[in-house]
Amino acid sequence: MTIENDLSSFGLFFGAILTNDSRLCVRTLRLKVKREGYAWLNAAAIEVNQVWNFSNATSYRAARPFTGQPRILSAFDLDKLTAGACECFERIGSETIQRVNAEFATRRKQFRKAKLRWRVSQGSKKSLGWIPFKAAQLKRKGQSLRFSGKTFRVFERELLEGTVWKSGCFAQDSVGEWWLCLPVQQKVSDAVAQKEAVGLDLGLKDIVATSDGDKLEAGRFYRSIELKIANAQRRGHKRQAKRLHRTAARRRKDALHKFSTKLIAIYQTINIGDVSSLRLAKTRMAKSVLDAGWGMLKTQLQYKGQQAGRCVQIVSERNTTRTCSSCKALTGPAGLDMLVIRSWVCSACGDTHDRDVNAARNILTAGRCPPSVCGNEPPLAAAPPSQTSSRCEALDQRALKAAA
Ligand SMILES: [Zn+2]
Repeated sequence: MTIENDLSSFGLFFGAILTNDSRLCVRTLRLKVKREGYAWLNAAAIEVNQVWNFSNATSYRAARPFTGQPRILSAFDLDKLTAGACECFERIGSETIQRVNAEFATRRKQFRKAKLRWRVSQGSKKSLGWIPFKAAQLKRKGQSLRFSGKTFRVFERELLEGTVWKSGCFAQDSVGEWWLCLPVQQKVSDAVAQKEAVGLDLGLKDIVATSDGDKLEAGRFYRSIELKIANAQRRGHKRQAKRLHRTAARRRKDALHKFSTKLIAIYQTINIGDVSSLRLAKTRMAKSVLDAGWGMLKTQLQYKGQQAGRCVQIVSERNTTRTCSSCKALTGPAGLDMLVIRSWVCSACGDTHDRDVNAARNILTAGRCPPSVCGNEPPLAAAPPSQTSSRCEALDQRALKAAA
């Protein structure tokens, strides 16, 4: 299991949600906690687990009673039942208990179950530590942060300067290190990019190819240290294997971050093909698909686009490989057997195409919304930005519906 998987179970991914005020967006900062706080956090995580397990047991008993009417306990009911419990705990306070109850109630509703999994505090199946808190519980104190009577120091402290944060949490990764996850509000930038639009084709040989011919090569993030991971696992060095997995994940994330930041800086509109990475991950190409990290790239482009005021849209990939981007004839290679063909010559117009760049160009063309009536309307590039973005949103929603 990778770190992303572990953290996403708490909804802690590095993402952004547009708030009601469209000029502000929320971004989650992930800051590493300095090591001297780990012992306290580990102990506090056990107390959080006890609260979670109490809520789990109590609400299960209410939902499946021996006699009488079954009841679904809300977060408010659980808060009343756990009132005063903070006196039994040394570290966590009532506000953390309320946040645990709220999270429990949300998840139980989400998964529609009478009982959720227990949070395990010891042994090989130990749950990764998690300590939620309300915004007011975390305070600045000089160079450090104060939470529940304990002072913490974090790396990259300068990112917190001048920010207003919301309810966040401390979370542990699979290697055992602690991270402070803090949603902060940020202003959406008004700057306009130099270039108008770009199409992106997601592939396996190159993770992405843009319609301008730029490529991000698949770095083989896992394959270069695969042997080391296998050796470590065979020798029973679990911790070392986990570290190597994390190294690979970080290398991939770094390459994707650099690429997506570059794209957002250059282009105003970004069109991505609608490949379903989840569906492809079930085929024999699974390893390459997971190594490519398309899903991560899409998420990054979407939240970075929101912060920078860009339009990111999902476009149907149908026939984009087969169509010639110059004359629109279906002369390209088709089918799984033809995957090896990297470049081809169009038999209709004689142009030479790179397979992935050609597909990216077609995605770019598809992203320019087709006019409803052919003929006399001005091209979309000339439309004012407000109109463009609303049309983009409509297209986005249509694409999402089609994907669902
Ligand atoms: Zn052609």
